[in-house]
Amino acid sequence: MVEKIVKFEDDWAKQLTSEQVLITRKKGTEPPFSGRYWNHHEDGVYVCVCCGNELFDSRDKFDSGTGWPSFKKPLRPESVEFREDTSHFMRRVEVLCARCDAHLGHVFDDGPPPEGKRYCINSASLDFRAR
Ligand code: FE
Repeated sequence: MVEKIVKFEDDWAKQLTSEQVLITRKKGTEPPFSGRYWNHHEDGVYVCVCCGNELFDSRDKFDSGTGWPSFKKPLRPESVEFREDTSHFMRRVEVLCARCDAHLGHVFDDGPPPEGKRYCINSASLDFRAR
């Protein structure tokens, strides 16, 4: 069980840019091909921009052609949580940081084998730590 971090909206706003607040705390989506990491190929770990929780390994990153950083799986199963998202007339699975509930993106079933998952994640939700 991951210990939760809970902060008031004002506190998040003090430590994040307005774009990061919009995406992580208000479930926004950055435009494709606009973020820092969709075309980023360094070796390391992607962490939550809000709380530093380790979320994804660069070894699991793949080029999905969507313009968003895409991963086959989370770093650890307990790194993220899932929630059904029926907004925008779609049925999707939202991916959140398990520690601070930051909105990260969505997961789809059209990823590469063997997992077959595509974690479609906003760059604005992530920070990168080189290995
Ligand atoms: Fe977090």
